[in-house]
Formats: sequence, C-alpha cells, structure tokens
Amino acid sequence: MAKIVLKKEFGVDLLTIYCHACNSNHTFMAYENGVNKFNGDIYSPTVDKLIHYDSIVEDAARDNKCSFYVKNGNIRYTNSCRHKHYGQSCELMDYSD
Ligand SMILES: [Zn+2]
Repeated sequence: MAKIVLKKEFGVDLLTIYCHACNSNHTFMAYENGVNKFNGDIYSPTVDKLIHYDSIVEDAARDNKCSFYVKNGNIRYTNSCRHKHYGQSCELMDYSD
C-alpha cells in the first residue's frame, strides 16, 4: 500500500502522510522555494525538506507540534517535536483515508 498520497489542489501539489505520533494525517506542500522535493515514489517516499506541522486546533493541553523528515519510506521526527516519538525514526504507516 501507499505510504503517501499526492493530491493537486488549487494548482498546488499537496502530500499527505499518516503520523502515528499525532494519530492524524499531516498534509504539506511538495515544494520548497518553488522546487519539487518529492521523489514521486508513493511506496518509498522521500521529501527532501524539513516538514513542520502545527495543529490547527489551538489547544495547549493537546499541543501536537510535530516536525519531521520523510526519507526512503521512513519518518524521522526531530527533537523539537512535542510528542513522545521525538528524535525517533520509523517506517511510515500505510496511508488510508
Ligand atoms: Zn505528527
């Protein structure tokens, strides 16, 4: 199964992964500074940039700020994540809507 989904919305390439740390989907742009950073492989995705994801739900008790890299089908969380998987690396889960 795919580990990442690519959708085009309003002319922008958007990627979505399932984040098991936040138990939710994270959607972000495939581009950085106008350059496509996605390798195009939905089964072993690499997105060559740091992805910051802030919850749109403003709730201090459930602060799920999350930042990570996606490389060769794995997700690597940075130490600045505010969840228990900070600093860890693991295989991306299969994506499902
Ligand atoms: Zn997350």
